[in-house]
Amino acid sequence: MSYFLPETDPVLTAARGLALAHPGMVEVHTGPLYLRARAPHPDRRVGLVSGGGSGHEPLHTGLLGRGGLDAVCPGEIFASPHNRQIYEASVAAAGPDGVLLIVKNYTGDVINFQIAAERLRHGGIPVATVLVDDDLSTDAADSATGRRGTAATVVVEKLLGAAADRGASLEELAALGTEIVARSRSIAVAARAQTSPTTGNPAFTLNPGTLDYGVGIHGERGTRTIAHPPIDELVRRMTDDLLDALPAGPAEVLAVVNGLGATTSLELHAIGTLLNEQLLARGLRPVAIVPGTYTAALDMSGFSLTLTRLEEGWAELWTAPTETPLVLPNLTLAADQDIPPAAPRQTVTRAVAPRAEGGRAVLDRFALIVTQVRDNLTRLDQLVGDGDFGDNLAGGVRRAVKLADEDGGDGLAALAEAFLNDVGGTSGPLFGLLFQHLASVSPAGDEAPSREALAGAVAAGLAAVHRVGGANPGDCTLVDALAPTAEALADTTREESVEAPFTEAAQAAVRGALATASLRPRRGRASYVGDHAIGVPDPGALAVALLFVAIADVHEPATATRLPAPGYITLH
Ligand code: ADP
Ligand code: MG
Repeated sequence: MSYFLPETDPVLTAARGLALAHPGMVEVHTGPLYLRARAPHPDRRVGLVSGGGSGHEPLHTGLLGRGGLDAVCPGEIFASPHNRQIYEASVAAAGPDGVLLIVKNYTGDVINFQIAAERLRHGGIPVATVLVDDDLSTDAADSATGRRGTAATVVVEKLLGAAADRGASLEELAALGTEIVARSRSIAVAARAQTSPTTGNPAFTLNPGTLDYGVGIHGERGTRTIAHPPIDELVRRMTDDLLDALPAGPAEVLAVVNGLGATTSLELHAIGTLLNEQLLARGLRPVAIVPGTYTAALDMSGFSLTLTRLEEGWAELWTAPTETPLVLPNLTLAADQDIPPAAPRQTVTRAVAPRAEGGRAVLDRFALIVTQVRDNLTRLDQLVGDGDFGDNLAGGVRRAVKLADEDGGDGLAALAEAFLNDVGGTSGPLFGLLFQHLASVSPAGDEAPSREALAGAVAAGLAAVHRVGGANPGDCTLVDALAPTAEALADTTREESVEAPFTEAAQAAVRGALATASLRPRRGRASYVGDHAIGVPDPGALAVALLFVAIADVHEPATATRLPAPGYITLH
């Protein structure tokens, strides 16, 4: 039971989809199933045939075409193709010099490809085999099965495809393939196993915070389970293991950063940078860094690194043109890949406000509250948004504390600078606007701003937030806490408002924020989840309420004890 695969003939249906997407390149044969390149290079003397279990796409089928493979035999998911598929594909694809079979080292594949080779030989078609066995985690000396074949297959198929286009003979291709394999090693890690196509559950389970090191591409567990290290450490460790396993050879290397199915392009490209740094630091010359999902393990969350030491002429084979469904980034890095040093960070300098203990005390109090409730706010944003709210808020506050420590300026001005310049998300810069207006009425010394001044600042902040984000009261945003606060501060008719205006304002903010639970969001990301948001208070509004609680705590400590505790306000 895979999530979205057709129940009948998933592999054939996907093959047809590939041909539909690339009609000039790929055709599908059935009974038995194999795919063929429609327009192989005219200079080819040898047909290149590969295949294996499905679930590793774009492996094999993505490389069909000029500069790549002539025929591919896909098996069922994670199952070897039948020898008849391989035999008939090979008969169809054989050139005047015969056919080369590229086989990943798994028992079922090896047996079926060998049977097909026997039959081809028997039928008078010259045949040779290249066995790919790059996975160093299966390097146990006592193993009769040998190392598994994994992502180096892409490198082997690409380089052999280019050599075949140049008219190489069967013997030359077989020898070249064997050499490429000997100079390639891979290692894979996973943070989450792939979804089992039969049960719909992860093929194995890993505790949070751990990784399996040395996983296979069919959900085979790693050789070790390790604590999840920071990614740069992980890349360093994998690079060490790869270089230990690789035979000595040229300093030029090709590096594939292969996603195992559910690892994002963002992650793979970042890993590419880290790997490049590791290789340069060891005196190697990375000729190409190739990030992408090339050999998947269905939807496993993980990646593998493959290094190939490039002998003379191999870089040209890598950069040779291809016309295949998979577009490999097959350019080489410039020899002088001087990465320009990062531009010095531009900081907007602010005039240092006179030391304002009141503002600083508000900042410290708010920082303490945010630390206490950060996880609660994140949980709420997980329910209605993307789950980054608590972290963004806490990060901004931390930065403000650092700024205020550095220059001793006003705490609210530091909040404004931190949130306007450095906090992302929707709410960060909106909070920045509010802080900016509050900072403008933050008096020097430890006295409080006047009620009128604060009322004016909150009203101006509210107007700015409305101008920028368009939210009105009732839209279920931070405006629903800010608007009643502005109203309470402006109201001088009630005795409480006069006696303890900040406590009264904080009460209004808390009431407004909690009331958002009954609203259907009409702005921001929460508006996408519709009725799912009903019953959940808006985290932005709660954060506004907590800001006014902090102001009341600092300036009206006696009456602020009436206010509910921050942990209670954000409990859901
Ligand atoms: P995102 O992750 O969606 O970019 P954040 O997690 O930083 O946003 O902030 C979410 C909060 O932003 C919401 O709780 C809400 O209070 C506030 N928000 C969203 N849209 C608006 C808007 N148009 N005006 C005012 N506040 C908004
Ligand atoms: Mg968010």
